[in-house]
This record gives sequence, C-alpha cells and structure tokens, in this order.
Amino acid sequence: MSETPTRELLESTARLAADYRESLNARPVRSLMSPAELERALAVPLTDSGESPGDVIAALARAGASGTTASAGPRYFGFVIGGSTPAALAADWLVSAWDQNGGLYATSPLIAAIEEVTADWLRELAGLPSSMTVGFVTGCQMASFTALAAARHRVLRNAGWDVEAQGLFGAPPIEVLVSDEAHYTIFMALRLLGLGGTRLRRVPTDAQGRMRAAALGALLESVTGPCLVCAQAGNVNSGAFDPLEEIAALTRARGAWLHVDGAFGLWAAAAPSRAHLVRGVARADSIATDGHKWLNVPYDCGIVFCADEAAHRSAMTLAAPSLSAPYLATSTRQRDPHEFVPEESRRGRAVPVYAALRSLGRAGLTELIERNCRQARRFAAGLAAAGHAVLNEVVLNQVVVDFGDAERTRRIVAALQEDGTCWCGTTVWQGRTAMRISVSSWATTDADVERSLAAMVRIAHATP
Ligand SMILES: *Cc1c(COP(=O)(O)O)cnc(C)c1O
Repeated sequence: MSETPTRELLESTARLAADYRESLNARPVRSLMSPAELERALAVPLTDSGESPGDVIAALARAGASGTTASAGPRYFGFVIGGSTPAALAADWLVSAWDQNGGLYATSPLIAAIEEVTADWLRELAGLPSSMTVGFVTGCQMASFTALAAARHRVLRNAGWDVEAQGLFGAPPIEVLVSDEAHYTIFMALRLLGLGGTRLRRVPTDAQGRMRAAALGALLESVTGPCLVCAQAGNVNSGAFDPLEEIAALTRARGAWLHVDGAFGLWAAAAPSRAHLVRGVARADSIATDGHKWLNVPYDCGIVFCADEAAHRSAMTLAAPSLSAPYLATSTRQRDPHEFVPEESRRGRAVPVYAALRSLGRAGLTELIERNCRQARRFAAGLAAAGHAVLNEVVLNQVVVDFGDAERTRRIVAALQEDGTCWCGTTVWQGRTAMRISVSSWATTDADVERSLAAMVRIAHATP
C-alpha cells in the first residue's frame, strides 16, 4: 500500500497522542496555561487558504501538552472523572476512523451489533434483568433525561394521557419526588422535560446523604395521581447509596416509577465487597449511569437502562408512521440504536465500552472497582491519621475532608492544585466547605495514592 498523506498524518498523530499519554505521569496535574496563554496559542487568524493538516495537528498537540488538565492520568481526583483504558482509547480512535452514523442499523450494522453485545455485558455486570432496554448517550444527564422521558410517558399513559401527542398542556399533574441530595443533572433533566424545577417535592436525607425511606413512604401516601421517584446510587460527594430495596418496594406498592441515578455507583455491583450497596437496583424502572466515569472510557458516554420497553421506545421515537421520515430505511428485524436515545445521527458510543470491558474482563472490572474503593479508604485513613476530619463514611470511592474552616480548606486545595502532584477540588458537603477526593481511574496505583497523600499532608501542614 502506498504511503498517503493521510496515513502519514494519522501515524504522526498517533505518535503525538502516545507522547501525550506518556507525559501524564510526570507533568503537573493542573493545566499549565493561563487563559491569556491559551488564547495566544489558539486564537490565530483564520486564514483564507487554510493550513496543512500536519501544521494544525502539531499546533493542537503543543497546546494540548500543557493546556489540558492531566485528568486522564493517575493522580486526578477532582469531581468524579475516570481515565480511559488503553483499549477504550484505541477503540475510540477506530470509531472516528470508521466515521459511522450509529443511528440506524442500515447506516451501520457494525455499530448496532456492538451496541447489542455491549448492552448484554453491561446488564450482566450490573446484575440487571436481560429484558431491560439500553441506550448509549453522551453522559448521565442525558441518560436520566431519556429515562425520565420514558417515566413521563408511562405515568401519564396510566392516567389516560398521551404526552407524546398532547404534550403537558392540560395533562394530569405529575408528582415528582426527588432526593434532597439529587445530583444537579436530575434537576436539569426534569426541567428539560417540563416537569419543573421548584414544584418538585424533596425527600429528606440522612447525614450521609441517603434518602430517608420512611420520609419517602409518608410522602408517597400523601400524594395522589401520577408519580415518579428519583433515587440515587452513589452520592457525588459521599458516595452513599439510597436504600434502594426499601425505596423500590415503596414505589412499586404505590404504582410510582422509580428512577435511579447510578452515574458511578451502579458499578459497585461489579465488586463483591461493595455489591450490597446497590442491592435493589434491579427493581428500578430506569437507571442512568456513565461510561466516562468508572468504566474508564474516553468522553463522552452515558448509558440508560429501562425496564419498560414500550415506554422507552414511545418516548424516543415518533410513533405515527406519517411523522417518521420516509427516507429513514428503518429495518424491521434489527435494532435501530436511535430508538432508545434522544439523538438521531450519532457516534458509536458503545464501541469504547465494548473494548474496555472485553480487555478488562469480569475480573479486571472487579479489580478496578475494588482497588479504587480500597484507595479511597487509604486516603481517608491517611488524612485522619494526620489529624484532618473526614466528613463521610467512606463506603465507595469518595472522600470528603475538612481542614478546619472554609477559608483554610480553600487555601489548602488551591496550594495542592498549584503544587501539581495531584488534583482535587472543593465541594460543599452538609453545609461545610470541604475537599473532595474521587478515586475513579484504572491508572491510579497505590504508589500514586501514597504520593498524593504525602502532598496533601505536607501542604496542609504548611498552610496556615
Ligand atoms: C457525574 C454525575 C452525573 C452527571 O453525569 P454526566 O455524565 O456529567 O452527565 C449525575 N449523577 C451523579 C451522581 C454524578 O456523579
């Protein structure tokens, strides 16, 4: 085969990408460029004639070498951000090279087939019924959006209302019961679905951020009409789990829809020592999770599971044949991926998940989850031993630390970020400003944890 300019470009880009990945362990974890430096590097005049692809890529690679945060590296503990396993990253490159439209079976039989296999693996690993339908979206927010659209369909259909045809104008009001500790994205998804931002009813939580089942029970008894409940598996700060078994029993008895936000916490199911936390999740009507957090695939990937196939499909497709575009060569026998997600044209988001799971294997995923949980406990123990207050029960991969008062905590976190050994951010937990540690990367070794812990203790000691 002749060497084409494209081959040269792709091979040199692969080398730049490999250089970048190899740099992650040694460079400071924070971004090394100021806003002004980023602008200087990137805001070049757009030329009339264009630049050579090689020059463009070289310039991007130079900016990326220092303008990124090393969140794909082993010592990034901010927010809840996974890395990407080598197989997942490489598979993501293939997805771009294939450039398939994964919306229809007809446009990409390969992507449709990979989605089905990946869905099977995910249901098995999470202990979910094989009858649950699955959609691959951009993240957990869109997974919750999709799930709650299915919920909206079902609870209104049961009340004799066709929300897809009539919208919410004149519809029976839906009672939406949300954990007081629900993630921002649940409120966003509900708002996008016309279910309101402030008319929701908040269910109180305990000191770890777990929904109080008794309070939910009382609320469920006090409301009438269509009802949906949003619970969570894995609080974004404490990692705590709502009591899903009790919640599932209560919602089922009431005929309400149960949605579970398991952005990262769902994967406790893959770890024998943690699986009890997520017990009951298989009884949910819908579940949202992320690929780009604990499954360690590159951004972006979220996954929705739904126990009600008719509701899932009804919410995500135009049912009336006259409304579906006649040029869409929909296959009758094969699964069309777009029928389970808001997007029409779409990327093959399941492919990196497929590659990650196939390369890790069951034991590899278990080891990753167990290791990150053990590493979180090590952070907590090390910080407590140095006299710092760990505010949460470390049940999963999240640790919340208070260094005394809000100002001092902020100063310590800022100094830690500047130091560059690792990266953590601040959060507000139960009214207290705290540092949050999330251990979510396949790349984090025990040595990375010891190095990062030493930096935290040293910087906290040196900061007045
Ligand atoms: C991260 C997170 C989300 C949102 O996920 P995105 O992928 O950013 O849309 C939702 N819920 C919880 C608990 C999370 O941790």
